[in-house]
Amino acid sequence: MAAKAMGYKVMIFDTVKDGPASSCADLTIVAPFDDTDALARFAMTIDVATVEFENIPVEVLVFLEERVPVHPSSSVVRICQDRVLEKEFLRDHGFPVAPFRVVTSAAELAAALGELDAASILKTAVLGYDGKGQISVSPGDDAEIVWAMLGAPRAVLEKRIAFESEASVICARNATGSLCFPLQANVHRNGILDTTVAPAPLPQEVSSRAQAVATGIAEKLGVIGLITVELFVLPDGSLVVNELAPRPHNSGHHTLETAMTSQFTQHIRAVCGLPLGPVDLRSPGVMVNLLGDLWKGGEPDWEVFLKEPGCFLHLYGKEEAKAGRKMGHATLIGKASESVELALTLRDRVVR
Ligand code: ATP
Ligand code: MG
Repeated sequence: MAAKAMGYKVMIFDTVKDGPASSCADLTIVAPFDDTDALARFAMTIDVATVEFENIPVEVLVFLEERVPVHPSSSVVRICQDRVLEKEFLRDHGFPVAPFRVVTSAAELAAALGELDAASILKTAVLGYDGKGQISVSPGDDAEIVWAMLGAPRAVLEKRIAFESEASVICARNATGSLCFPLQANVHRNGILDTTVAPAPLPQEVSSRAQAVATGIAEKLGVIGLITVELFVLPDGSLVVNELAPRPHNSGHHTLETAMTSQFTQHIRAVCGLPLGPVDLRSPGVMVNLLGDLWKGGEPDWEVFLKEPGCFLHLYGKEEAKAGRKMGHATLIGKASESVELALTLRDRVVR
């Protein structure tokens, strides 16, 4: 939608018919990722390619890269789609991460549990999102059972961090430099992002450090486009990087209304080789996610949000409202401290 508004023609390659993106695209090619004829045809229609999410086979991006510029590149996506490579990249470049071990069997898990010797989380290396593919583990747990429960060939065991709060920074980078949106504070429920407050109610000094970390990661990755850095903020203000996403991020959806340039526009600007837009906030804001659970009594009463002048409702048009599925979000602009409570109250009231 951002690219279209800027006058670009938008072509989508999707493996399923009628994906949400195709409704606002000029052309959609539907084919499996291993259909190189379709990929070659797709490449002929475009000047530059970007990705909507990181779980695209790297070979697809390598194939496209032989034909058109791809941002983020296959090497960036390779790292960000694999928790093992991501953690190793962060650690090897001196960015703060939770103590972790790579695990590929029950025996390795048992050894890793002994080494970390603390409450930990076992996370699948690939395809995890919204807390899926994660199991909480403690030193005494039976590694055989936990490993069987995870049911994945590769995983990361990482120490559970006793954070004070969670936050994220969205950093945009093009060929000439990088620019970070202000730090935003995130609250997760059941491993799923629930609310984001922007700017984060944290000392300026913490924000600056978080932006410096994000800029450093963007530079070291050499990403063109956006990189979102999820962070844990410890009680002493120090930061631990949780994970990376090389794309617009759920915690940045508020920028549609709060920022001088939205994260989506910024992504397109970076990917298309344009100068980055200003990232200052026009207004503080609060975003609440709308999960499928809200549909338990039927279609929610959206008027509750729509009647609030400073509230902006976004529904994604997904067909089926499953529990835990992100169906939309609402952003309230205005004084953040007051908006959080109001946003949560409104969300409760839409349920029939
Ligand atoms: P997504 O991609 O949707 O952000 P994900 O499934 O990849 O999520 P993570 O970001 O790794 O998962 O974890 C989800 C949430 O679980 C975190 O935001 C945090 O609240 C909690 N969590 C994850 N790892 C840790 C940790 N090491 N210590 C404490 N809490 C954690
Ligand atoms: Mg996460």
